[in-house]
Amino acid sequence: MTFDVETAYTELQKLFGARIRCNEPLARHCTFGVGGLADIWVSLETQQELIDLVTSCAERRWPLLLVGNGTNTLYADAGVRGIVARIALHSYTIEDRGDGTALLLAEAGVSWPRLINDLAVLGWGGLEFGPGIPGTLGGGVISNAGAHNSDLGQVLAWVDVLDVRCAERELPAPVVERYQHSALALGYRHSRFRTHRRVQFDGQGYPVAVVRQLIEPAEIIMRLGIYLRRADPQRLRMLIEEYKQHRKRTQPPQQSAGSIFKNPVGDYAGRLIEAAGMKGMMRGKAQISERHANFIVNVGGASAADIVALIKEAHTRVLARFGVDLELEVELRGEWKVTQS
Ligand SMILES: Cc1cc2nc3c(=O)[nH]c(=O)nc-3n(C[C@H](O)[C@H](O)[C@H](O)COP(=O)(O)OP(=O)(O)OC[C@H]3O[C@@H](n4cnc5c(N)ncnc54)[C@H](O)[C@@H]3O)c2cc1C
Repeated sequence: MTFDVETAYTELQKLFGARIRCNEPLARHCTFGVGGLADIWVSLETQQELIDLVTSCAERRWPLLLVGNGTNTLYADAGVRGIVARIALHSYTIEDRGDGTALLLAEAGVSWPRLINDLAVLGWGGLEFGPGIPGTLGGGVISNAGAHNSDLGQVLAWVDVLDVRCAERELPAPVVERYQHSALALGYRHSRFRTHRRVQFDGQGYPVAVVRQLIEPAEIIMRLGIYLRRADPQRLRMLIEEYKQHRKRTQPPQQSAGSIFKNPVGDYAGRLIEAAGMKGMMRGKAQISERHANFIVNVGGASAADIVALIKEAHTRVLARFGVDLELEVELRGEWKVTQS
């Protein structure tokens, strides 16, 4: 992909003004606190801005990566070439159906923990299991985020998707389409959007990212419909507090991206990594958490390469010792070594 930063910057300034930034450190935009520079960074606040940016990028063949809060993302030390746009669309409305249920119509950039607090005050339940999931709702659909035996898929009705798969084939305008729940292939930390994104490990044991498309991802979640039900505000607040306390006890306080690997069927990735003797192991300034072995933490000044060195070590050891091929839960974004999907 050829990309002229100067030209793109000048053009995009016309659309986004001072919100466009050049050479933006991605470490500022992910919970790992690592990652190199994005050539161009912008935070999108409306659906129209998202459509305009995607259309410009498709027309001009500018590479574009769309992200949420960066809480499940490991950016490469080499950064991201092209434009990185954060989906920060944050409006929502509630359609009360008058029978003790409602439909929440939320934009994809709504932040889960903030929304939960609002809903608790209003006495609407359904999402209260997620105060410890610091991402956006859109990001939550990708991995079907969940906790405490619940997940987003259990309350999700549909998503509106900006489908730009046409951009690869140079077809005309992107279209917005509604995907019903049944079309989303939701499972344990899985959705249709992840089908071709599984990270493989190479002969030396290193994770190899999936090759990037011009506009990545090419199915962009813009809006979600979520079922809510009436619940006692006090009970909701109590549950939320209980879940928060549970997190404090069981998860590390340092910077991380939550669980590194998915749990394999019938077991726990954390148990296997701990049994492989890795709890507390360090590479550079990254560590397998002392508190929870399926968390890699940045103890201050870690690089993405430090984190990947631990991912490699954990994957290799667990495979050799237990024959379990752990699947990465965190997504690799940016200039990593790539493989065809
Ligand atoms: C401390 C901590 C605890 C966590 N606990 C949990 C937990 O209990 N359960 C759990 O499931 N997860 C957990 N996570 C992981 C994370 O919060 C979730 O996966 C979350 O849903 C990611 O949302 P995000 O907006 O940060 O996505 P990002 O990390 O920004 O993006 C993740 C991927 O989704 C894509 N994406 C993001 N938004 C969109 C969109 N609108 N349309 C299309 N693609 C999009 C991005 O390109 C990227 O590939 C935790 C993370 C942390 C840091």
